[in-house]
Amino acid sequence: MSADVTSEEFRVLVGQFRASLKAMEQRGVVSVSAENSDLPSPLTEAVAPVPTATPTTPAAAAPKPMSDAAALPETEAAAAPKPMSDAAETEAATAPETEPSTKATPPTSMPTTPSTSRAPQGGVVQSLAELRADIGDCQRCELAQSRKTLVFGAGSEVASLMFVGEAPGAEEDRLGEPFVGPSGQLLDKMIVAMGWSRETVYIANVLKCRPPQNRDPKAAEVAACEGFLTRQIQRISPSVIVTLGKPAAHLLLKSTASMGALRGVWQSYEGVPVMPTYHPAYLLRDPSKKRETWADLQQVMARLASLGIETP
Ligand code: SF4
Repeated sequence: MSADVTSEEFRVLVGQFRASLKAMEQRGVVSVSAENSDLPSPLTEAVAPVPTATPTTPAAAAPKPMSDAAALPETEAAAAPKPMSDAAETEAATAPETEPSTKATPPTSMPTTPSTSRAPQGGVVQSLAELRADIGDCQRCELAQSRKTLVFGAGSEVASLMFVGEAPGAEEDRLGEPFVGPSGQLLDKMIVAMGWSRETVYIANVLKCRPPQNRDPKAAEVAACEGFLTRQIQRISPSVIVTLGKPAAHLLLKSTASMGALRGVWQSYEGVPVMPTYHPAYLLRDPSKKRETWADLQQVMARLASLGIETP
């Protein structure tokens, strides 16, 4: 439109436009109404409806706080980091079943105490008084017919040092006490020279009854009686055993070697160190062997000292 058009002319033009528009409307070419003039703009129609539901993907990708892990579905919870207590539980559940018993039970390679290693299967070690009561008036071998007194043993029930001889002699048979005759007096001197006493060691014999004329023990007699000595050793559980003479060494060491070969060399009985040496009765017959015997006993003293066992 030109800037030179007057108001009157503009009204005329508008009137003409409206008339034309009305004519077109009457012919059905266009449809013009007052409502249509208020139609929303195409931009407004293009706006997408505001979603009412929050998209799930971004939320699922967001990191979760640790406290939510427990509330996750099983698969997610499995992938989430576990608290320490849960991890420990899992390890316990997957650990070998034998592990607890292995922990509760000492390893087999671990050294056992002498009393445990020598304990009778499934049994409780008897006291010496109980054992003596069990022996009673023993008739298990022929020596029961000739003995006067059964000679059980003497000394401390908790002795660290134990002497094992052969069998009672005449004095022992009469008094019922081991090593009280001439050989016993020599043994007492040996024990005192070592720094111990008859009361602080334990003294026993392979046989509890005297063989007639002090003859050597028979194999059947040893077999019948050895269980009593075994149970004495179990009870006393000494740290060191000194065998006096051949029968004691042969029985405990299951050897048939001569005393010359056995003496002075450390052996073992059920885990207990054993020092074989000569019998005092033999030393009375051959005093020259006292020097070797003393050397053996000195080894015993050193062994006890190395174990931290002091003389009483
Ligand atoms: S030596 Fe031993 S087995 Fe023989 S009767 Fe005496 S205690 Fe019994």
